[in-house]
Amino acid sequence: MSGGDACSCLEREKPPIKREWVVWKLRFNTSAFNGYKVTPSDYSTVHCQVCGKVWRTKAAYVDELFCDRPENSRYWKQTEGAIA
Ligand SMILES: [Zn+2]
Repeated sequence: MSGGDACSCLEREKPPIKREWVVWKLRFNTSAFNGYKVTPSDYSTVHCQVCGKVWRTKAAYVDELFCDRPENSRYWKQTEGAIA
């Protein structure tokens, strides 16, 4: 898995909820190794819309960020609910 460099622009100075960061993959990944299937992960993919950086993180702030597609966040919340 390639992590990528995390954003280090001015967005980083703001509280997470105000950052122009968008979650592309909330606690899952898709890679060539598993045929691009959705696979649960501790890490989320985050994109900074200001500087364009894309990185993966398991920091708690991902829960305060917007997702680019609603299903990206709902998917795993529904799954967790079903297991619980
Ligand atoms: Zn940035």
